[in-house]
Amino acid sequence: METAEYDLVIAGGGPAGMTAGLYAARGKLRTLLVEKMAPGGQAASTFLIENYPGFPDGISGPDLTQAMETQAKRFGLEIALGEMRQLAAQGHFWELQYEDRKLLTKAVIVCTGVDPRKLGIPGEEALKGRGVSYCATCDGPFFRDQEVAVVGGGDSAVDEALYLTRFASRVYLIHRRKALRAEKILQERAFQNPKIEILWDTIVTGVLGEKGVEGVELMDLRTKECRGLKVDGVFFYVGLLANTGLLKGIVKLDDQGYVLTDENMATSAPGIFAAGDVRQKLLRQVSTAVGDGALAAFAAERYIESHRWWGN
Ligand code: NAP
Repeated sequence: METAEYDLVIAGGGPAGMTAGLYAARGKLRTLLVEKMAPGGQAASTFLIENYPGFPDGISGPDLTQAMETQAKRFGLEIALGEMRQLAAQGHFWELQYEDRKLLTKAVIVCTGVDPRKLGIPGEEALKGRGVSYCATCDGPFFRDQEVAVVGGGDSAVDEALYLTRFASRVYLIHRRKALRAEKILQERAFQNPKIEILWDTIVTGVLGEKGVEGVELMDLRTKECRGLKVDGVFFYVGLLANTGLLKGIVKLDDQGYVLTDENMATSAPGIFAAGDVRQKLLRQVSTAVGDGALAAFAAERYIESHRWWGN
């Protein structure tokens, strides 16, 4: 198996990874960024980003992340597609594998982000891609003039419910409590949108349908009454799961699986840094991810410079 040597390997090509790549490339580190799918991360599947400074009218997720990639490449960042497997210490170096390549690197920045959490209720898995979705931006246009449900009360649920009103004739926002967790500005928009009906104190206990979604089964938590609701699609936004498979047993994670770092993005393992949504933090946004990425690259550069490397 071919072995390539780098100063820095970045896992994940969302806003945190791209920013780390931009800073590392400008710092003249031999850097490789490896992305599992297409670069851009979760932000690339966001229709409109309104809270990233510098874009008074907002900017589409694909446009913003594409511009980040172009900018990082302009300074020489090498980007490869592939699934990163196995991370192991090799003396002072870290060894990684992806596809049929072995990488030996002085430092690693993990920016592998998050995936949507599943509820694990009957019908959810069986009808995934047939009316059950975790991405309104990807699947919303399929529900023109149809009725859909969105589950959750955070920024994602409310943002995506609003987006779905562009297509659907009615959007039921189903939340387990009597108050939303989302930003106030999003809440106000949802309350004012005539297409959105909020079902408070309600949980979804099952997804109904044979070949495609025909409805959801609901339980009112106040009365414990159950009923069916006819919808053509259901979008789940019930939180996130950190992609930390690569790091298990190597760095310290919190009890929800997020990576613990210090304020300079260093993890508990020397030479391994983490940035973006995968990290334990208060706010997961593009604006906080890019800050993490810049700091992680700077800290990695310092780390590399402060060690004597064999052959240096
Ligand atoms: P989140 O903030 O963790 O919200 C998850 C929602 O799902 C909560 O309302 C929670 O209810 C509900 N929930 C969790 N488990 C559930 C269960 N078993 N049954 C029913 N409901 C359940 O996740 P998120 O909305 O994906 O946001 C994640 C991060 O991304 C946040 O930092 C957010 O700010 C950021 N984000 C920002 C934007 C934006 O700025 N526009 C857009 C998208 C995401 P409770 O409220 O009762 O806990």
